[in-house]
Amino acid sequence: MVTFLAGGTGTPKLLAGSGSVFPPSSVTVVGNTGDDVELGGLLVCPDIDTVLFLGGDILDRDTWWGIADDTTATHDELERLADAAGLAAGPRYLDDEAQTAGRRLARWRRFSGVAEFMLIGDRDRAIHVTRTGLLDEGETLTAVTERLAGALEVPWRVLPMSNDPVATLIHTPQGMMHFQEFWVARNGEPAVDRVEFRERGATLTRSVGDALTDPVVVGPSNPVTSIGPMLAVDGVPEALAETTVVAVSPFVEDRVFSGPAADLMAAAGYEPSTAGVAEAYPFADAFVLDTADETGLDRPVVRTDIAMDEPGDSTRVARAVQEALEVAAR
Ligand code: GDP
Repeated sequence: MVTFLAGGTGTPKLLAGSGSVFPPSSVTVVGNTGDDVELGGLLVCPDIDTVLFLGGDILDRDTWWGIADDTTATHDELERLADAAGLAAGPRYLDDEAQTAGRRLARWRRFSGVAEFMLIGDRDRAIHVTRTGLLDEGETLTAVTERLAGALEVPWRVLPMSNDPVATLIHTPQGMMHFQEFWVARNGEPAVDRVEFRERGATLTRSVGDALTDPVVVGPSNPVTSIGPMLAVDGVPEALAETTVVAVSPFVEDRVFSGPAADLMAAAGYEPSTAGVAEAYPFADAFVLDTADETGLDRPVVRTDIAMDEPGDSTRVARAVQEALEVAAR
């Protein structure tokens, strides 16, 4: 058995071709929920959905989010209506009182549905309607996620990191904003003063606790906004310290493959590089680094080409992960 910790790009890319190395029936994926938002009353879980859509073989692999060839009729009409009604474009983050009213899971991640700022496809939206409906009927996010994984015939077990809310908030000179506003609406352009995970006190579910007793692979995800929220869940750092952990770098020395990891690492007080990743992961027993990455680390390293662009690349990286797990367990 092996457990992967996943954001929405790097780890899913690794999972895509990992099947011949890690049989899917032996894999649990713990997904980040710090990026989740409630949009017009619907809970959207971007990182978990990427894993579900990948496993269900319906992911749009150009963007690594959304369903391939989805239509956007509802989204387009929401934009048209807002425009016709003279309403300013989103994101329309709700006021503090609204953030803490209603569904607890939506705390500090609640946006009005007016002028929807994230592009939600029509089939994609059906996932969010079903998820939110089942939450309203009293199911936990863990149970709902397992049900959706079954419906999409996802071959892995997929678990949210917690049933409690953790919202990733970015403090900038222009004020505080939810991570999705920072990244999707503002292209990661505002300077980052500080990253906050609100609320504290989220607890580990029994399922995640069990999954973290197996060897753990921290895929090449953003250490701050994809893995950071997991480390803010009570019990997760302790569980990782106990088990064998291998991490794949999302950097080649100080070069990031994609996304805002470098700026966010710097704001979180880490060097934006492989060395900074190693510092952020004191629980990692071994690392998989790129062949061109000469960073010297105080823990064992397996090197391979860690760029995952073509089919087959992720199988190569998965083999290196397996080797690193063997080295780490020695
Ligand atoms: P997010 O939720 O979309 O931010 O996705 P993740 O946190 O899962 O992944 C983002 C990270 O993936 C970035 O820091 C990238 O550097 C890393 N990444 C993207 N493509 C690759 C790749 O081909 N190889 C490796 N090693 N890392 C990658």
